[in-house]
Amino acid sequence: MNQDCIFCKIVNGEAPADIVFENERLVVFKDINPHAPVHLLIVPRQHLRSINDLNEEDAAIIAELTLTARDMARKTGIAQSGYKLLFNVERGGGQVIFHLHMHLLGGWSG
Ligand code: AMP
Ligand code: ZN
Repeated sequence: MNQDCIFCKIVNGEAPADIVFENERLVVFKDINPHAPVHLLIVPRQHLRSINDLNEEDAAIIAELTLTARDMARKTGIAQSGYKLLFNVERGGGQVIFHLHMHLLGGWSG
Protein backbone atom coordinates (compact mmCIF):
# COMPACT_ATOMS: atom_id res chain seq x y z
CA MET A 1 0.00 0.00 0.00
CA ASN A 2 1.35 3.37 -1.08
CA GLN A 3 -0.18 6.03 1.20
CA ASP A 4 -0.06 8.70 -1.52
CA CYS A 5 -1.69 6.54 -4.20
CA ILE A 6 -5.39 7.07 -4.98
CA PHE A 7 -5.74 3.64 -6.60
CA CYS A 8 -4.21 1.95 -3.53
CA LYS A 9 -6.84 3.78 -1.46
CA ILE A 10 -9.64 2.62 -3.79
CA VAL A 11 -8.55 -1.03 -3.83
CA ASN A 12 -8.26 -0.95 -0.02
CA GLY A 13 -11.73 0.60 0.41
CA GLU A 14 -10.32 3.88 1.73
CA ALA A 15 -11.54 6.03 -1.18
CA PRO A 16 -14.83 5.78 -3.08
CA ALA A 17 -15.21 4.27 -6.54
CA ASP A 18 -17.95 2.68 -8.61
CA ILE A 19 -16.66 -0.90 -8.30
CA VAL A 20 -18.11 -3.40 -10.77
CA PHE A 21 -15.99 -6.47 -9.92
CA GLU A 22 -13.31 -7.48 -7.45
CA ASN A 23 -11.41 -10.53 -6.29
CA GLU A 24 -8.33 -11.19 -4.14
CA ARG A 25 -5.95 -9.87 -6.77
CA LEU A 26 -7.68 -7.07 -8.69
CA VAL A 27 -10.50 -4.53 -8.67
CA VAL A 28 -12.52 -3.18 -11.63
CA PHE A 29 -14.18 0.23 -11.35
CA LYS A 30 -15.67 2.87 -13.64
CA ASP A 31 -13.38 5.63 -14.85
CA ILE A 32 -14.43 8.90 -13.20
CA ASN A 33 -13.91 10.81 -16.48
CA PRO A 34 -15.03 8.33 -19.15
CA HIS A 35 -13.70 8.58 -22.69
CA ALA A 36 -16.16 6.01 -24.07
CA PRO A 37 -19.70 4.79 -23.27
CA VAL A 38 -18.03 1.90 -21.40
CA HIS A 39 -14.78 2.91 -19.70
CA LEU A 40 -13.55 0.61 -16.95
CA LEU A 41 -10.21 0.45 -15.16
CA ILE A 42 -8.82 -2.97 -14.26
CA VAL A 43 -6.45 -2.50 -11.37
CA PRO A 44 -4.23 -4.99 -9.52
CA ARG A 45 -4.40 -4.66 -5.73
CA GLN A 46 -0.60 -4.77 -5.66
CA HIS A 47 1.02 -1.36 -6.14
CA LEU A 48 3.14 -1.50 -9.29
CA ARG A 49 4.05 1.87 -10.81
CA SER A 50 3.76 1.05 -14.51
CA ILE A 51 4.43 -1.59 -17.16
CA ASN A 52 8.11 -0.58 -16.84
CA ASP A 53 8.17 -1.98 -13.30
CA LEU A 54 6.94 -5.46 -14.19
CA ASN A 55 9.08 -8.48 -13.42
CA GLU A 56 8.79 -12.00 -14.82
CA GLU A 57 6.85 -13.08 -11.72
CA ASP A 58 4.14 -10.49 -12.52
CA ALA A 59 3.15 -12.35 -15.70
CA ALA A 60 0.17 -14.01 -14.01
CA ILE A 61 -1.42 -10.76 -12.89
CA ILE A 62 -1.07 -9.22 -16.36
CA ALA A 63 -2.73 -12.31 -17.84
CA GLU A 64 -5.51 -12.01 -15.29
CA LEU A 65 -6.06 -8.32 -16.10
CA THR A 66 -6.52 -9.27 -19.76
CA LEU A 67 -8.87 -12.19 -19.06
CA THR A 68 -10.88 -10.00 -16.68
CA ALA A 69 -11.14 -7.33 -19.38
CA ARG A 70 -12.54 -10.01 -21.72
CA ASP A 71 -15.10 -11.00 -19.07
CA MET A 72 -16.06 -7.37 -18.40
CA ALA A 73 -16.52 -6.77 -22.14
CA ARG A 74 -18.93 -9.71 -22.26
CA LYS A 75 -20.75 -8.56 -19.12
CA THR A 76 -21.22 -5.00 -20.40
CA GLY A 77 -22.40 -6.23 -23.81
CA ILE A 78 -19.55 -4.83 -25.91
CA ALA A 79 -17.65 -8.03 -26.68
CA GLN A 80 -19.10 -8.47 -30.16
CA SER A 81 -19.16 -4.79 -31.17
CA GLY A 82 -15.55 -4.46 -30.03
CA TYR A 83 -13.35 -2.58 -27.60
CA LYS A 84 -9.87 -1.30 -26.86
CA LEU A 85 -7.51 -2.41 -24.08
CA LEU A 86 -4.90 0.16 -23.20
CA PHE A 87 -1.98 0.75 -20.85
CA ASN A 88 -0.62 4.28 -20.68
CA VAL A 89 3.05 4.02 -19.70
CA GLU A 90 4.80 6.88 -17.90
CA ARG A 91 4.21 10.58 -18.55
CA GLY A 92 5.06 10.56 -22.25
CA GLY A 93 2.57 7.72 -22.72
CA GLY A 94 -0.19 9.69 -21.01
CA GLN A 95 -0.04 7.96 -17.63
CA VAL A 96 -1.24 10.24 -14.81
CA ILE A 97 -1.99 7.69 -12.07
CA PHE A 98 1.21 5.82 -11.25
CA HIS A 99 -0.46 2.59 -10.14
CA LEU A 100 -0.58 0.10 -12.99
CA HIS A 101 -4.01 -0.21 -14.62
CA MET A 102 -5.58 -1.39 -17.85
CA HIS A 103 -8.27 0.69 -19.57
CA LEU A 104 -11.25 -1.08 -21.18
CA LEU A 105 -12.96 1.25 -23.65
CA GLY A 106 -15.92 0.51 -25.90
CA GLY A 107 -19.61 0.85 -26.56
CA TRP A 108 -19.43 3.24 -29.51
CA SER A 109 -22.17 2.79 -32.08
CA GLY A 110 -21.34 1.40 -35.49
P1 AMP B 1 -3.91 7.07 -16.96
O1 AMP B 1 -3.81 8.25 -17.87
O2 AMP B 1 -3.77 5.76 -17.69
O3 AMP B 1 -3.02 7.18 -15.75
O4 AMP B 1 -5.42 7.05 -16.49
C1 AMP B 1 -5.87 7.36 -15.23
C2 AMP B 1 -7.37 7.30 -15.31
O5 AMP B 1 -7.87 7.25 -14.00
C3 AMP B 1 -8.01 8.51 -16.00
O6 AMP B 1 -8.79 8.07 -17.10
C4 AMP B 1 -8.87 9.14 -14.90
O7 AMP B 1 -10.09 9.65 -15.38
C5 AMP B 1 -9.06 7.98 -13.94
N1 AMP B 1 -9.26 8.33 -12.54
C6 AMP B 1 -8.51 9.18 -11.80
N2 AMP B 1 -8.95 9.22 -10.53
C7 AMP B 1 -10.00 8.36 -10.46
C8 AMP B 1 -10.89 7.96 -9.43
N3 AMP B 1 -10.78 8.45 -8.19
N4 AMP B 1 -11.86 7.08 -9.72
C9 AMP B 1 -11.98 6.59 -10.97
N5 AMP B 1 -11.17 6.90 -11.99
C10 AMP B 1 -10.20 7.79 -11.75
ZN1 ZN C 1 -1.06 2.29 -5.66
